[in-house]
Amino acid sequence: MTIKQQASIKRDCFDKVMLPVYAPAQFIPVKGLGSRVWDQNGEEYIDFAGGIAVNALGHCHPKLVKALQEQSEKLWHVSNVFTNEPALQLAQRLVDHTFADRIFFANSGAEANEAALKLARHYAIKKFNPYKTKIISFTHSFHGRTLFTVSVGGQAKYSDGFGPKPADIVHVPFNNLDAVKAVIDDHTCAVILEPVQGEGGLTCATPEFLAGVRQLCDEFNALLIFDEVQCGMGRTGTLFTYQQYGIIPDILTSAKALGGGFPISAMLTTDTIASVMYPGVHGTTYGGNPLACAVGCAAFDVINSDAVLSTITAKRKLFIEQLEKINQQFSVFSQYRGKGLLLGAQLSEPYHDRARDFLNTATEFKVMILNAGTSVLRFTPSLVISDEEIIQGMARFAKAVEKLVNSK
Ligand SMILES: *Cc1c(COP(=O)(O)O)cnc(C)c1O
Repeated sequence: MTIKQQASIKRDCFDKVMLPVYAPAQFIPVKGLGSRVWDQNGEEYIDFAGGIAVNALGHCHPKLVKALQEQSEKLWHVSNVFTNEPALQLAQRLVDHTFADRIFFANSGAEANEAALKLARHYAIKKFNPYKTKIISFTHSFHGRTLFTVSVGGQAKYSDGFGPKPADIVHVPFNNLDAVKAVIDDHTCAVILEPVQGEGGLTCATPEFLAGVRQLCDEFNALLIFDEVQCGMGRTGTLFTYQQYGIIPDILTSAKALGGGFPISAMLTTDTIASVMYPGVHGTTYGGNPLACAVGCAAFDVINSDAVLSTITAKRKLFIEQLEKINQQFSVFSQYRGKGLLLGAQLSEPYHDRARDFLNTATEFKVMILNAGTSVLRFTPSLVISDEEIIQGMARFAKAVEKLVNSK
């Protein structure tokens, strides 16, 4: 692949014109194909980040490109004053393959969670009483960046400094059923959790914990919300992660991989819970946009197949074998975390708080990785990454680790 020199717009422009809420890498990606990305200078990178668990089928997957191109010549947007075929087709797929009967589309994970939390409160208020508003959440959880979702999320660094927060939200330690028991009561409307905590460090819920929380929710008429924005859509080896645990939520949120790189999210729920909603009670201009849903349908059909889902375990194994080879030489990891291709490598004690250094050094050696917190490296590659690309990317990463270890 040849990329023409086209660096008329430079990285330093970011520092002048963009709100300084990110610190992006020094190169600017201009083209992607599968698990490879090229920058303005034609340098090639192997992508183990996948746009933060978004590009589940890599870059420019032919089926997604085709869906987007075809839809782009038909209908882009009509608003929710009208419905559209792609939205109904994607909703039908989600209903056919999950516990859910009803779908609400939005544009980001935060918006799907916002809808889920509003639904849970509204359901409790309408079905029970106006004081049933308590939301139980977990430390280290992440649910998005709107004021409601940062407040529900369990990371003060994201929620503090913005004035008064929505009330009646409590946080308890993850995987600690006694802690949930201590705070859940008749005034609780919902418990929200990520079956695998993503941003918080790739901690998997234990099966006993999920079963216990389900039971407590039933006992106190609280809704159980699973945020599968990051761990859903095939990433852990089943369409949604709850399907592996066999614990059914009342509400589930999906985003990230749902659109394979096109912004879309969904909130899934049952007929009973949906029955408290009515026209006008909640909404969004773009949610269920035909372009997004057409791409979503194409992504859904590729991901929800044996050809993809049955390979996730083997790919995880190959990743861990490669990481372990690096570890035997350099002793940088103390534990592997997460599930499927939501994979974490916990940095060993001497490297605590240095995840960002690993990221930066990895990009020097032309491989893109992520962190989850300051001491866990995160790998969320395309679900269809080839074994050769995993091995080649890991060879580059090994060189990055060598440099980092030797420059200590
Ligand atoms: C990324 C993420 C979100 C927020 O999604 P946005 O699209 O950034 O709003 C919410 N929950 C989880 C678990 C996530 O990983």
